[in-house]
Amino acid sequence: MYRLVCVHCDAAYAPDQIIYTCERCGHLLAVCYDIDTLTIERDVWNRRPLSVWRYRELLPVRGEPVTLQEGGTPLYHLKRLGEEMGLAELYAKHEGMNPTGSFKDRGMTVGVSMALELGKTSVACASTGNTSASLAAYAAKGGIPAVVLLPAGKVAVGKVAQALMHGGRVISVRGNFDRALEMVHELCISHGLYLLNSVNPFRLEGQKTIGFEVIDQLHGVVPDRMVLPVGNAGNISAVHKGLQELIALGFIDRLPMMTGIQAAGSAPVVNAIEQNLPELIPEANPETVATAIRIGAPVNAEKALTAIRQTGGIAASVTDDEILMMQRDLARKEGIGVEPASAASVAGVRKLVESGIIDRDERIVCVVTGHLLKDPETVVKQCEPPIEIDADLQSLLSALHLHS
Ligand SMILES: *Cc1c(COP(=O)(O)O)cnc(C)c1O
Ligand SMILES: [Zn+2]
Repeated sequence: MYRLVCVHCDAAYAPDQIIYTCERCGHLLAVCYDIDTLTIERDVWNRRPLSVWRYRELLPVRGEPVTLQEGGTPLYHLKRLGEEMGLAELYAKHEGMNPTGSFKDRGMTVGVSMALELGKTSVACASTGNTSASLAAYAAKGGIPAVVLLPAGKVAVGKVAQALMHGGRVISVRGNFDRALEMVHELCISHGLYLLNSVNPFRLEGQKTIGFEVIDQLHGVVPDRMVLPVGNAGNISAVHKGLQELIALGFIDRLPMMTGIQAAGSAPVVNAIEQNLPELIPEANPETVATAIRIGAPVNAEKALTAIRQTGGIAASVTDDEILMMQRDLARKEGIGVEPASAASVAGVRKLVESGIIDRDERIVCVVTGHLLKDPETVVKQCEPPIEIDADLQSLLSALHLHS
């Protein structure tokens, strides 16, 4: 039904092989379906609830999945912000509305299900936070232990709280995310834990359903552009892969311009696109308030560069100030609460519209990736503290500048 195929040299591997990189060239693997042998009917999909598992024929899991009912997230029309930018068709897919508050759940429902199907009894990941929160929850649901490695002091408190409460073995590494990922990769190879970072081809299969849901929510219309924040570049690659499969199935006839947004202090993909480099040059010391995309050596860069280039998309960076301003704007003008990394996608649109790169008649879908409550500390720092008053009506009226 499917094989694992190297994204670089096309070497193919059996689906039940526990393997994360190509034995021949060391590059990543992707799940490759024999589309002609699949029978998929749109009507059947449409009768199922909007969720990751609506699309199960295009997912690798064969048995009952480990699920917490992920996906089916809202697609909001950003009416007010769109008007301000002169965009009539600006949308946000709110992935913060997943079970643990980020799109990582789409990947983990598939990844942990596959871990069990492959007979694995423990799972592990390195994480800027959301991956660990999600893995801990799905490992709990699946009844197996999870080890998660976090870069010390650089993870938002809500995410650590989740990983701990769901029973993950949480290890704080005195090093950055990129180093933690190298370490956990070695641990998994040497000790047989199942690795669920975005090097894992099955995880990305779940994440590609973001694109499927967007098409369904727009009643079959392909947006002109999809905009995603880019950290390890797995998500933008996954969405691109999924939409290519819909083309192969004849369900859609074109791809959106895949557009990746990074934080200015952590922008190796943007540099590679701007300078037209064949390969990415890692950023040794990535820095940004948007900790979920504070990644200097994105492992999925090769696929992301292809996705952006082949679809006529673009990559752009935004400053921390622009990110935080958009986080506030989304919260106050649209009622949408997201964490900083998520606001990067919409902040990128604002910048690209102002610089004339985005046309005002485009239909644009931004993926906002994680929930506001993930990172309460960054929120509290930006906002005026509550006004504390004595417990009488007069004090209340004067605090609100009202006459008695
Ligand atoms: C993981 C994550 C990202 C980055 O996604 P990649 O697949 O690593 O590019 C962006 N935003 C949030 C909230 C995330 O959790
Ligand atoms: Zn290869």
